[in-house]
Amino acid sequence: MTYIGGFINKPLPKPEKSIRYDQQYVGASTLGKQEYCEIKVHHEIIHGQKTTEEMRRGTIIHEEWLPEEKIDQAQLIAELEKEETIVSFQVAAEIQGIPIVGKPDGLVFKKGKLKYVMELKTVESNVERLWDSEVVQSLTYCLCLDEMGFGNEMEIVIPKVRRSLGTNELKDIICEIINFDQTNGCPELAFLLYKVIEANKTDLLLEKTNGDLMIHFFYYDYYLAEEWIVYLLDFWTEKRKPKRARYKNQCVVCEFNKQCNHSLTKYEDQEN
Ligand code: SF4
Repeated sequence: MTYIGGFINKPLPKPEKSIRYDQQYVGASTLGKQEYCEIKVHHEIIHGQKTTEEMRRGTIIHEEWLPEEKIDQAQLIAELEKEETIVSFQVAAEIQGIPIVGKPDGLVFKKGKLKYVMELKTVESNVERLWDSEVVQSLTYCLCLDEMGFGNEMEIVIPKVRRSLGTNELKDIICEIINFDQTNGCPELAFLLYKVIEANKTDLLLEKTNGDLMIHFFYYDYYLAEEWIVYLLDFWTEKRKPKRARYKNQCVVCEFNKQCNHSLTKYEDQEN
């Protein structure tokens, strides 16, 4: 169970600069999306985001891995004092006068200290590739947590799982790996995953799932995070023009391809 509470009880500060589209803040996941294509971010704000079947399946997997129970602030503080727990709450910071917000999937606290920032990613095929969008989103959570006083020694954990891998099948595999007796029930997947990490058996997990689940790790670095986020925020303060997708394939699968004047497919078509 992931316990959801809140530390931010007051409204976010007003932005000190005007933000594109009159936004009041920028979300960590939006910063991540910018790494895919900033023109697409523009289209999503103007025309709305379309929900795909993959997104729906991803939401179900998130709910299965990280079922949430709402708790109040006092309960959250008590939860953090436990030997080990997974919680989630809204994180925020202000960078160059712009409020940044986000909600990580899971924060693993061990003896009151933030140990892992977990961000689950569900994919159709390649679990091995970690994208810049995923890295900067996680770094943004860490920078917010750092600014909120949770330290800077956390490790980022990104489990990438194929959507075809069943939750119960995965639970059985993990319980076998860590010798967990399921007779009296089984903890949630995120907690089991944490146990696999602690047991240093993530390679075995990759092998036992036939390559369907790979766990990526990297450490938070304040300077990398700040420099990257400042660059991405330049889009919101209109210091620079939007960056478009890098590869034609991104445009081929983009739902805005037909209406997008910057699509790499159209650009090439005109050249032919
Ligand atoms: S078609 Fe290409 S350039 Fe246009 S929004 Fe989509 S990914 Fe970006």
